[in-house]
Amino acid sequence: MIIPIFIMNKGCPNRCVFCNLQKTAGDHPGQITEGQLRQTVASYIGSAKKKPDDIQLAFYGGNFTGLDGEEEIALLGYAKSLISEGLIHSIRVSTRPDYIDREQCDLLWSFGVTTVEIGAQSMVDEVLELSGRGHTSADTVRAVEMLRGWGFITGIHLMAGLPGDSRERFACTIDRSIGLKPAMVRLHPTIVFENTALAEAYGEGRYQPMSLAEAIDACKYALKKFSEAGIPVIRVGLQTTKEMEAAGSIVAGPFHPAFHALVEESIFYDMAFDLLSAQDVASKDVVLFVSPRYESYLRGQKNNNLKRLKERFRLNAITVKPDEALKWGTRIVNIR
Ligand code: SF4
Repeated sequence: MIIPIFIMNKGCPNRCVFCNLQKTAGDHPGQITEGQLRQTVASYIGSAKKKPDDIQLAFYGGNFTGLDGEEEIALLGYAKSLISEGLIHSIRVSTRPDYIDREQCDLLWSFGVTTVEIGAQSMVDEVLELSGRGHTSADTVRAVEMLRGWGFITGIHLMAGLPGDSRERFACTIDRSIGLKPAMVRLHPTIVFENTALAEAYGEGRYQPMSLAEAIDACKYALKKFSEAGIPVIRVGLQTTKEMEAAGSIVAGPFHPAFHALVEESIFYDMAFDLLSAQDVASKDVVLFVSPRYESYLRGQKNNNLKRLKERFRLNAITVKPDEALKWGTRIVNIR
């Protein structure tokens, strides 16, 4: 179980052009007291059906290592006492690559932080500059290598469709990110939220977001590459908040509440397509087998993938069966 605590842009030296945490994280207090933190932890644990074996407290939504020193130590102290009391097991923080140095690694380690997520967003410097990030890809390389060397489980966040990004540049970001060997990746397309510099640029015609189809394609490419490299992608697409759903919150961009499912469905459609293309299946009854975990992705929403495949290959019938012999999570489609 990961219990999120949002620090709401605290520690950020500047505002990145796409960032509107009030929409993406929701409404959270700016100042976090020990009492609030304990209450949040108790409510998460209390609402779990059974007590999870591993509970991690995560500080998200800002630049944790850029916090004022006293505040950073206070938050780490609150979390460490929860570890001592056996209420949680570890701490996770998300932060910027240009705010990682030896002192910060030492501090985080001494308080029981095990996992650090780095906002890399892109590995192309011009894209980072146009996105108002204020750091370079070299900062990300240095930070990830330092954290990994220290023993932290190190993840990175990436975004598709940032200002100045392109298919080739995004492919370069994915290749360079794989080279960093992160323990995990979070990935989402750029959405234009109200009250951001990106919304202004969009209004003035200086920024054009990806279409939903382009965003699915880009994230599909990334997911396949990370999967081949054995790097887990722990999130695809933004988590929907009620603030995000409020009228006017999203100005433009490829937002879809089931974005991850759309990407997976597209991957499974391609796999089935390749499989059927290699055989003489016209007018036949076809049965596809897939890991039970992915059955719904192969079917697609409202069986859309199956309908498209049936029509495209002029099949008599197409059905999907879960293959219990396939390891849970294996992205393979078989035909029998
Ligand atoms: S560093 Fe992260 S939290 Fe801070 S402004 Fe940029 S995207 Fe938002």
